[in-house]
Amino acid sequence: MLLYGKAVICISVTKSTPDTIGYVNNDKSVDVVSAWSPPFDDFDEQKPTRKSKKKMFTATALVLVFVFTTFYANIGVYFNSKISDTTQIDEPTRQEVLQGIKDADLYVLDTSNILTHIHAHLAIIVQGRSVTIPVIGVDMRTLTAAPIHTHDTSGTLHIETDSTNSYAPNALDFIRLWNKGEDNLCLIFARDAKCKVTVSINNRPGVLTDAFEDGDRMVVRVSLPDKPVYV
Ligand SMILES: [Zn+2]
Repeated sequence: MLLYGKAVICISVTKSTPDTIGYVNNDKSVDVVSAWSPPFDDFDEQKPTRKSKKKMFTATALVLVFVFTTFYANIGVYFNSKISDTTQIDEPTRQEVLQGIKDADLYVLDTSNILTHIHAHLAIIVQGRSVTIPVIGVDMRTLTAAPIHTHDTSGTLHIETDSTNSYAPNALDFIRLWNKGEDNLCLIFARDAKCKVTVSINNRPGVLTDAFEDGDRMVVRVSLPDKPVYV
């Protein structure tokens, strides 16, 4: 019965001071009950001045700036590390490029006399899982290149010929360049002598030795019927 006729209300004194909790009595008077609330006599003295408000605002702004810059700096470091993880390219050395050319029985491209330059896309899917196409066949520091090479891991093949070598390599040449001359996809990707290999170019059946045309998209699927398919 003590609280009968009273209602809890919040009085917002000013924007910069906290709310005061009180009770409205039946006679419309208000019992202020909040312990921390300053007595009304002292209220004017304790009311923040324009100067102190400005100080508080500056301090808050500085704290916020610090918090946000720290947060975003850390986010940046996080994402940069992620980006560098995924885009870090392990470029071959000139020696590795020359060895690959020898293994694949290709020729060293005369990069100062390029005759043709086309691009094709290669995707290799083993048991349903996409294989990363590595950066191989070119050393940009010395411009030593095989006539088929990659500059990134996107699957884009750069196929070039020069004025003295007209042979444009195919996907099988690329597989050999990549795998020390080996071109048995079952052994390379399935580690099994028996597997099923299907090749398509622009969604039509093809073979690995098909000559590429600019913009071709080749998909090579390697599957082992007896083993589980990844999804
Ligand atoms: Zn290119």
